[in-house]
Amino acid sequence: MNEESIMDRERNQPSTGHGESRRQFLRKAAMTPVAASLIGLNDGEAAAPLAQGSNLPWYRRTYRWGQTNINEKDPIRYDIRWWRAYWKRTQTQGVVINAGGIVAYYPSKHPLHHQAEFLKGRDLYGELTRAAHEDGLAVFARMDSNRAFEPFYKPQPDWFALDAEGKPYRAGDLYVTCINGPYYEEYIPEILREIIAWEKPDGFTDNSWSGLGRDSICYCDNCKRKFRQFSGKDLPRRTVSASGSGAGANRSEQRQAAQTDWDDPVYRRWIEWSYRRRLEIWDLNNRTTRTAGGADCIWAGMISGNLISSASRFRDMKELCRRADMIMLDQQTRGSEEGFQTNGETGKRIHGLLGWDKLSAESMATYGPRKAARPIPEVRMWMVEGFAGTIQPWWHHVGAYQEDRRQFEVVEPVLRWYTANQDYLANRRPVATVGVAWSQRNVDYYGRDNADELAWVPYRGMTEALLKARIPFLPVHADHIERDAGQFSLLVLPNLAAMSDSQVEAVRRFVGKGGSLIATGETSLYTEYGDRRPDFALADLFAARYTGKRHGPEDPARSEHSYLRLTPDVGQDLEGPRSGEEPAQSAARHPVLSGFEKTNILAFGGVLPEVKPESVATVLLTLIPPFPVFPPEFSWMREPRTRIPGLLIRERNGARIAYLPADVDRRFQHGNSPDHGDLLANLVRWAAKDTIPLEVQGLGLIDCHLYRQQGRLVVHLVNLTSAGTWRAPVHELIPVGPLTVRVRLPQGVQGERLRLLVSGENPTPSRQNEWARFEVKSILDHEVAVLE
Ligand SMILES: [Zn+2]
Repeated sequence: MNEESIMDRERNQPSTGHGESRRQFLRKAAMTPVAASLIGLNDGEAAAPLAQGSNLPWYRRTYRWGQTNINEKDPIRYDIRWWRAYWKRTQTQGVVINAGGIVAYYPSKHPLHHQAEFLKGRDLYGELTRAAHEDGLAVFARMDSNRAFEPFYKPQPDWFALDAEGKPYRAGDLYVTCINGPYYEEYIPEILREIIAWEKPDGFTDNSWSGLGRDSICYCDNCKRKFRQFSGKDLPRRTVSASGSGAGANRSEQRQAAQTDWDDPVYRRWIEWSYRRRLEIWDLNNRTTRTAGGADCIWAGMISGNLISSASRFRDMKELCRRADMIMLDQQTRGSEEGFQTNGETGKRIHGLLGWDKLSAESMATYGPRKAARPIPEVRMWMVEGFAGTIQPWWHHVGAYQEDRRQFEVVEPVLRWYTANQDYLANRRPVATVGVAWSQRNVDYYGRDNADELAWVPYRGMTEALLKARIPFLPVHADHIERDAGQFSLLVLPNLAAMSDSQVEAVRRFVGKGGSLIATGETSLYTEYGDRRPDFALADLFAARYTGKRHGPEDPARSEHSYLRLTPDVGQDLEGPRSGEEPAQSAARHPVLSGFEKTNILAFGGVLPEVKPESVATVLLTLIPPFPVFPPEFSWMREPRTRIPGLLIRERNGARIAYLPADVDRRFQHGNSPDHGDLLANLVRWAAKDTIPLEVQGLGLIDCHLYRQQGRLVVHLVNLTSAGTWRAPVHELIPVGPLTVRVRLPQGVQGERLRLLVSGENPTPSRQNEWARFEVKSILDHEVAVLE
């Protein structure tokens, strides 16, 4: 969940009070920005010196963030002294302070800039910024540049977004501004410059900067004209349908979802143009703040780690992370059906784009709903799982006055621990030999209006299986396969259906050099625009040709009563006569099927494209087509054996290649069957050969992350063993242990000294060849083992 989705869902409306009188204010002498920016480090209690010295810009040195999201009432009750004490006790190095956008918290001279109802001429933004700078904190001025009140709309209606009928898009009482209009070109830059001149922050962040999402085409004159200049065409039309769009959409979004024609070249141009415009806005805002405030006065926007949400808002994660000096991640909590592990995966996916030497702070909600404290174990687990993914903390309260004071209890102990250990939690390189590929284009052009189900659920199922098997992995963008391939022995493509020719070639080169490959579902069956190819672009590697047939339920989110047959059968065969010819079999089962010795079948229920295997491929699973469930008398296999492959494997020049037409990854995400998870893990272990650098033995669901710093390894283990892992919020933490950890030592790491940063113990590791082995007695929430 991020702030925008909460906003969309709850439509929280500030009061419409407007146009308060303005008092003259004497401004205190401005803090010198350089001094202010340096003091992010001056916290006397910071236990660990930063690894890279203080000549780095402030946004590379400010690890611990905090935010009190000010509401309109706060100007008359903000106890700055209390909050300064809170900054100190939570060892916060940087704060996000509301400045302007929808609501101004300083006496803005712009007549249309709505002053907070209770501001009454006060300069709350300036007071807080000066206080923070005096205390040695860095400041992000927070903007919210996407909507405005009616008194703004009335004189400037052409700055606002219009629907197909020419009516303004509304969000409650507010009017939505158009991304192509002077609001973004002139007004926001003017406000940014005014804030810098008024009380210079170190940088800017913006809660909701990217305009309308994909479900709402703007038909204002600016959009019509600019799209015509870009494409030579009129804006695409669309009709409102009753059926839902993306699976991530909530019900009201689904009702309003419009039908789109992704095959229409004009619509595709609109998608491309819309993405491009958001990058222009990002660049424009950065030029503005850096010109007015100096080279380090960055405009960092905000992005969500959720790929589906980012795609629906035209935020190109790869391009934005490429531009960013620091990422402000608006991903405050998990969804009700997600585990905490989402946060660790997000951190690694973001850093894979951003670089591992930069920081990405994440807004972590201490509340939920707005004014009630979120259960402490829930907040704590979200935070530590973020740390495991190399995300930096950023506590978040809504409003300066809280009656549920339990929300103030969670931050201090976690940030004290973080402060003492942050040297090990940033500026590190991940160690993983398994790369799992993803791309935003696959979400857009293959996933289209059902992106979560088609493009993301298989990715999540695959990564959940890796987590359960305690196999460290890294998300890798499909455009970075070539760049990142050197560290991987295995590349996994979970239903990466829409692939460009160059991505296909990168995979081919990886395998050509002996890298192993696992691909599932419709991987490479579509172009980068989601157009069906006649056959998989990787058909030669799969050693399988697409027949054009598809088996399984029309809607892949549903399930039907089908199975997969393991080959060869073992034990007594009671199924009677066989239809068709047997697939090629060897006497013993393949290690990929180990653990299933007592069964000939696995439950399936899913979707698979039908392929014809080449002779070099070995078929390990075949489809048993659906048959009745009810009444029980009817429930017998009509066709117990087919030649329709569910899984094929082969070896080629040292590379191990598995193609899994059956959507076992998606099934695992939906059904959580241990068989599906174990099968995927077996496949990964076989294909990765003996390159997986970490083994963790002991009971529990443990998310295992492995990093390297100079001369040391950092093993981060997060204990997800709780019923609350799968149903938010978690009520209590349950310790696990003992766990035995074996880790392969790379060159330069001696593995003689070990520290456990949470328990404080220093057990002695034992060495066996290039492996170090040690025991962790107990883990409550997480443990970080540093091996030197
Ligand atoms: Zn427009």
